Amino acid sequence: VLIGEDRPAARPTGFDTGCSAPAAPQVLRERGQREVFCGLTGIIWLHRKIQDAFFLVVGSRTCAHLLQSAAGVMIFAEPRFATAIIEERDLAGMADCQDELDRIARQLLDRRPDIRTLFLVGSCPSEVIKLDLGKAAQRLDAAFGGRTRVLNYSGSGIETTFTEGEDACLAALVPEMPAAPADAPPALLLVGALPDIVEDQFLRLFAELGVPIAGSLPARSVASLPPIGPNTRFLLAQPFLGETARALADRGVQRLDALFPFGAEGTTDWLRAAAEAFGIDPAHFDQVVAPGRERAKRAIAHRREQLAGKRISFLPDSQLEIPLARFLSNELDMIPVEVGTPYLHRDLTAREVALLPAGTRISEGQHLDRQLDRVRADRPDLTVCGLGLANPLEAEGLSTKWAIELVFSPIHGFEQAGDLADLFARPLRRRDLLKV
Ligand code: SF4
Repeated sequence: VLIGEDRPAARPTGFDTGCSAPAAPQVLRERGQREVFCGLTGIIWLHRKIQDAFFLVVGSRTCAHLLQSAAGVMIFAEPRFATAIIEERDLAGMADCQDELDRIARQLLDRRPDIRTLFLVGSCPSEVIKLDLGKAAQRLDAAFGGRTRVLNYSGSGIETTFTEGEDACLAALVPEMPAAPADAPPALLLVGALPDIVEDQFLRLFAELGVPIAGSLPARSVASLPPIGPNTRFLLAQPFLGETARALADRGVQRLDALFPFGAEGTTDWLRAAAEAFGIDPAHFDQVVAPGRERAKRAIAHRREQLAGKRISFLPDSQLEIPLARFLSNELDMIPVEVGTPYLHRDLTAREVALLPAGTRISEGQHLDRQLDRVRADRPDLTVCGLGLANPLEAEGLSTKWAIELVFSPIHGFEQAGDLADLFARPLRRRDLLKV
């Protein structure tokens, strides 16, 4: 399921200094073999978050195995994801895949009338045989009408990496969001799947601040997607939602530029962007935010001694790399050596990049062998990487952190800032214990 293939980069390999701002950082662009999960992985957290949706992957047994093993082999009586397996006769063109898909979807919806939204999720095999899931979704949506909405997006490893699956899913939901009336009062939309407990913490803070909330995307129920319009402002909770941000902008919704809510500083900046946009009195903002910010700072301080001065490299994986490197360098005094990311959303992360220490090597895309050579030459104290790379690097005496843990753990906001710092401290503690 870890994939490695040549995917064309937008521009050739080499250093790109950027074309607009003269102060743009140097970015090493790479293409070549990649080792990263595909976008199907997002189903693992999306199916828990969106409680009235069902994700039907149209794929192979490999896709089914990925979902089952990544989901910790969760066998429910009534799960909310499944794989419609494309068999050899489908691949050989001996069966009409559209008919087969209709049959399976009907079977599923007849048996599970509680499904309010069905996502047909594309995979490498469905893409290779050019199965038009957009057409299938339209046809099934027309057939099931008001009862079940049928949408589609791609989680294929050819088109998407890891967290891009969430981006594709949320972008597919944007056209379904109702239009807010033209005279609707301004309100804030939170964008990005967060654990419910973290989302609730943020909603409580916005309520205390007096920031009016339109809702969240994804909503816990697709049946109650919040209305949006030109008076809606949105804050991204995740840095990998480029397509979703574009789809919202097309609906006239304005993005509030902010750091991402990691650590005391990132969270404060994120909340402040909303407070300023909604004209909240700065003194009131400070009063509401100060207790959480102080708690976060204290929790982070417990890990500073262990992490300060330690060198860290990120291999491209979750697209969280840039804001996390900013958090680690600004609040824990770590030294980012190389920060690799599959895609650098320049517009969404410009402020994050500007806060990285001078000389940080930023790389976009992946050429696995070259990147591993650089890690071996740099010998950082900690390397954040995918599951498949961690063991070989550990065997070479390098401490590693699984990038996937950062996606599956609650790490946003004031209350999680200490845990976030601890996720990076733990492998170093383990290394020290093993040395003893
Ligand atoms: Fe593998 Fe592609 Fe299926 Fe992902 S979508 S599990 S990369 S075959």
